[in-house]
Amino acid sequence: MVEVVKRCSFPMLDGYKCNKPFKVSSVKAGVRKYCEEHHGNDVRNAHRYSENKLVTSTNVHAQAGNDIVMREWVMAKIKSETQDEERIRKLEREIERLQGQIKKSESDKKIVSKIVRKELKNPAHKDRVEGIVVKILQSTNKRIKEIETYLERGEE
Ligand SMILES: [Zn+2]
Repeated sequence: MVEVVKRCSFPMLDGYKCNKPFKVSSVKAGVRKYCEEHHGNDVRNAHRYSENKLVTSTNVHAQAGNDIVMREWVMAKIKSETQDEERIRKLEREIERLQGQIKKSESDKKIVSKIVRKELKNPAHKDRVEGIVVKILQSTNKRIKEIETYLERGEE
């Protein structure tokens, strides 16, 4: 028989699990959830011995059973709320990360435009841009002259 060590999940009054380790055969490992001390508190094992004084009488047992179910519910609730909080924290971190990225790309834009502006002020670039503008102006002037000449000829 293979034995596995599990930890008791009996919900204690302080809101935490008992957590006491107990050995159980691997066959029953999936079913058994309480340690020896709390085994009798499992509704399915109500006939079993329990050191818990609450379960000595049938009535009290029923009451204790309700308490246990309630405590388990509270624990599950706390756990799911913790998970929700973890999810919210993750989302908040993601939002912060995205905000950081936006700020970074904004500052990147500023850096790029700064460089562009700086490059345009660079005399070499200025000369090249002016050179292109002058060339365009010259060819436009030439074209205008050609048109004027054509029109003058037409008037003759
Ligand atoms: Zn226990």
